Amino acid sequence: MKIGFSAEDEAFRRQVADWLQTHLCGEFEPLRFRGGPGDEHMFPEERKAWERELAKGGWIGIGWPSECGGRGLSISQQVIFHEEYARAGGPGRMGHIGEGLIGPTLVALGSEEQRQRFLPGILEGREFWCQGYSEPSAGSDLAGVKTRAQLENGEWIINGQKVWTSLAHESQWCFVLARTEQGSLGHKGLTFLLVPMDQPGIAVQPIQQLTGTSEFNEVFFSDARTAADNIIGAPGDGWKVAMTLLGFERGVSTLGQQMQFRNELEEVIRAAQDNGADRDPLIRQRLAQAWVGLKVLRYNSLRMLSGTQDGSLRGEAMIYKLAWSNWHRDLGKLAMDVLGPQAELLEGAPYELSRLQSLFLFTRSDTIYGGSNEIQRNIIAERALGMPREPRAR
Ligand SMILES: Cc1cc2nc3c(=O)[nH]c(=O)nc-3n(C[C@H](O)[C@H](O)[C@H](O)COP(=O)(O)OP(=O)(O)OC[C@H]3O[C@@H](n4cnc5c(N)ncnc54)[C@H](O)[C@@H]3O)c2cc1C
Repeated sequence: MKIGFSAEDEAFRRQVADWLQTHLCGEFEPLRFRGGPGDEHMFPEERKAWERELAKGGWIGIGWPSECGGRGLSISQQVIFHEEYARAGGPGRMGHIGEGLIGPTLVALGSEEQRQRFLPGILEGREFWCQGYSEPSAGSDLAGVKTRAQLENGEWIINGQKVWTSLAHESQWCFVLARTEQGSLGHKGLTFLLVPMDQPGIAVQPIQQLTGTSEFNEVFFSDARTAADNIIGAPGDGWKVAMTLLGFERGVSTLGQQMQFRNELEEVIRAAQDNGADRDPLIRQRLAQAWVGLKVLRYNSLRMLSGTQDGSLRGEAMIYKLAWSNWHRDLGKLAMDVLGPQAELLEGAPYELSRLQSLFLFTRSDTIYGGSNEIQRNIIAERALGMPREPRAR
């Protein structure tokens, strides 16, 4: 097992930290520590400009292979980048769905023409993507999607509805899992489409969240169109492509987030020191538990790194989503208990939530998106422990 980073990695760490120190300043200074969970509505245009700044520095697609425009950095170095980014207060990424999900999927399964068409827009911070998987009756049971697409005169015509589509209102493109074989059920007959958002057949309707902001949306497709060759894989291969993409969602793209968690934990500790809650023995116990929990998350990540360096995920990855999302949700609850009755109050006009109040509300969603707690436990039971599969309707 490899615990820790090599000297070469540590030199890379200094390079990242230096670049951030000299670029995340001036016009970008107000973005520091902004745009994260519960704050994702802040500074969208400025954060897009920041994406372009990152692109100029060569910091987008650092793990992608060099023949696809990336830098082919090791997983350790990708983690170091994410750690330093969070340590410096780098803003929530507008381009994470493109960089972390559809980009690697195009690298793995896209055609050469598709890579040439779509990867530069992601790497240059010009084109943003959203994920059109969930539907009103297809969330955990993703194979239940009902959105239809059919080929007519060299174009796919798409009809149906997606829901909870994060950042659809800021995106130029959406990857859509749609049913292209009439009468098909479950995993069969699905196709993975790449659909331009700016067209009359698409309507984006914001959904207001608990935090009062609208990070995600309903997306309605009414005879929406995309070119016949804007699909990854062959017609009917959509499930395989969709699962490949989820592998990236549950893998490398979540590594390195512990530094952001550490920033949040430090904020909770400061709040406890300020209001004297740190003298309450139960609060002290929970703060210490949170600190230990974060260390455990870190060592679990390092264990994930200690295997092959080809981007494939080890068994430890299966417990990671469950572990981090519960830790984060519990931190939000702890923040409220530290604040005590103050947690129920807003400061005064314009009555915005404080960062810790937003943290508490937004972290409720962590145990839902990217696979709910129950689904994660099913995955662990079936794939890691080899227990019998739960009965399926289809
Ligand atoms: C902040 C946020 C952002 C999101 N962004 C996107 C996005 O960009 N694109 C996108 O496509 N989707 C997105 N989602 C949707 C997310 O993927 C779904 O919410 C998630 O898959 C759960 O589906 P559901 O909401 O339909 O709940 P359901 O699947 O209806 O689940 C309801 C409850 O039943 C439980 N349950 C379901 N099946 C089982 C089972 N077999 N065994 C045990 N328990 C079960 C679940 O754990 C849950 O508690 C987002 C969600 C959130 C909260």
